[in-house]
Amino acid sequence: MEFPFSASKLPLQMFVNNEYVDVENPRKLTLYNPKDGSLVSDKVPVAGTEDVDLAVKYAQAAFPAWRKVAPAERTKTLLKFADLLEEYYEKLGELTRLTLGSTPAFAQMEASVAAQGLRYNAGWIDKFAGQTYPEADGFLKIIRNEPLGVTAGIVPWNGPLVTIGLKAAPALATGNCFIFKPSEKTPFAALALGPLIKEAGFPPGVFQVLPGDGSTGALLSSHMDIRKISFTGSCATGKKILEMAAKSNLKRVTLELGGKSPAVIFDDCNIPNAVKWTVDAITAGSGQTCFAASRVYVQEGIYQEFMTAYVQAMKDKAKVMGDPEAPGTELGPMVDRAQYERVSGFIQRGQSQGKLLVGGPRVGDKGLFIEPTIFAETDPKSEIHTQEIFGPVSVVRRFSTEEEIMKLSNDTSFGLMAGVFTQDINRAMRIAAEFDSGMVGVNCMSLSFLNAPFGGTKESGIGRECGLSALLAFTETKTVMVNLTY
Ligand code: NAD
Repeated sequence: MEFPFSASKLPLQMFVNNEYVDVENPRKLTLYNPKDGSLVSDKVPVAGTEDVDLAVKYAQAAFPAWRKVAPAERTKTLLKFADLLEEYYEKLGELTRLTLGSTPAFAQMEASVAAQGLRYNAGWIDKFAGQTYPEADGFLKIIRNEPLGVTAGIVPWNGPLVTIGLKAAPALATGNCFIFKPSEKTPFAALALGPLIKEAGFPPGVFQVLPGDGSTGALLSSHMDIRKISFTGSCATGKKILEMAAKSNLKRVTLELGGKSPAVIFDDCNIPNAVKWTVDAITAGSGQTCFAASRVYVQEGIYQEFMTAYVQAMKDKAKVMGDPEAPGTELGPMVDRAQYERVSGFIQRGQSQGKLLVGGPRVGDKGLFIEPTIFAETDPKSEIHTQEIFGPVSVVRRFSTEEEIMKLSNDTSFGLMAGVFTQDINRAMRIAAEFDSGMVGVNCMSLSFLNAPFGGTKESGIGRECGLSALLAFTETKTVMVNLTY
C-alpha cells in the first residue's frame, strides 16, 4: 500500500464511510511546530454539525451488520489494523511530531502500544462471554453483553495514537461503530489512518475520524444518536462532557482525566530505584502525562541523600532536552505556546509558594522548552502543590510519619496514580490500600498495562480503560429471563 501522507502532504479532510471528504464547516485552525515556531498549516479542518451528523448517519447504517460480523472475521480485521499501525509507524510519527514536538522513539512506543491494545482486544472477541444463573427458582437467567451502537472517542494531544489501542480497540472488538476525534493540537496521524482502516478491512462507517476542536467534541457529546463517549483529557472538559451526556440522551461516559500523583518515599527504600522512577515519571512526555509523579514526599532520614540524587538526575534530563529529531533527545518542547505560557506561569508564581531548587528558565531562545523543575518545601495548600501543571515540574516535601504523609497524599481532588517506595512489604501493602487512587505502584509508578484496569478515583475520572473493564464499558448488559415452568 502506498501511504499518501507526509509533512508536505497533510491529511486535511475527514475520513467517513471509508472515504476522505471535505468538511462542510468553513472554519479552519492554524498549527505551528513547537520546536521552532514554524507554520505547519493554516487549513486544519473543524468538523461541524453537518459533518458530525453525516459520520453518525454512516455509523448507524453500518452498525447492524458490524455487530453480527463473525468473531474470526472481526478478529482478523483488528489484527490486520494492528500490523498496519506498526508497519507505518514512522510515517504516522512524523505527522504527530510536526505539532507535538515528540521524539521518533515516542512514535515507535505509541504505535506499539496502540497495536498491542488492538491485539489484546482482538483476543477477547471470541472469549467475551456473558453469564447464566441457575434455574432452581424455575427461571434461567442469561446475561448478555451487547454493543451500544455508535460510540465516540475524544482524546488529548499527548498520546494521539495510544488512545486507538485504549478506546477504538475495545469499542470495535465488542461490535460497536467508533468515531475518533483527535485533539486539534495533534490531529494529523489520526486523520492519516484512513488508508489503514480501509486496508485492514473495516466496512464503511465502522471506524471514522473527524478533525476538530472542542466545538466538534461538544457536538459529539450532545448528539442524540451517539450512545457512548470515551474521553481522555482535562477535568474541566470531562465535567462538561458529563453534563452534555446527561442533557442529551444520557449516553454512557468514560472519563480519564488529570492527576497530581504522589510518590511516597520511605527511609528504607532503594534510593537509586526511587530516583529513577520519580524522575522518569515527571519528565516522560516533558511532564505532559496524566499520571506524572508531580508530588514527591521523602521521609526525613534520607531527605538529603535522596534530594542530592534527584536534583542531579533532573539536571541530567535537561541535557537531553532539545530538538526532538536530533539523536539522543529524550525530552521535547511543550506542545504549543498556550501550554508553554501556562507552565511558565505556574513556575513564576510558584517561587512565592516554595523554594525553586532546579530548572525554571527555558532552554535556549528558540522553541517552547521548559527545563525539568523542582520546588521544595512548598505550601501544601498552594497552587503549585495542588493543581495539575502538566509540565516537567515537581513539588517536594519531607515527612516524618506514615500517618502524616498518607493524610497529605490523599488531600487532593485527584486520584489517578500513587507510588510507594519501601522495602517493607507490610507497609507497602498497607499504604497501597490506603491511597485514594485508581492505581498504585510499589517501588515503581506512572506505568500501565493493557490487561489491568487504568483510571482514577475522585476528579481523575469515571470508569476504567484496559483489561476486561474496557470491554464492559463499551457494552450494555441485558438480562434474559427464561420461564422453564411454562
Ligand atoms: P482538553 O480537555 O483540553 O482536550 C481534550 C479533548 O477534548 C480534545 O480533543 C478537545 O478538542 C476536546 N474538547 C475540548 N473542549 C471540549 C468540549 N467542550 N466538549 C467536548 N470535547 C472538548 O485536554 P488536553 O489539554 O488536550 O489534555 C490534557 C489533559 O488530559 C490533562 O488534564 C491530562 O491530565 C489529561 N490526560 C489524562 C489521561 C488519562 O488517561 N487519565 C491521559 C492523558 C491526558
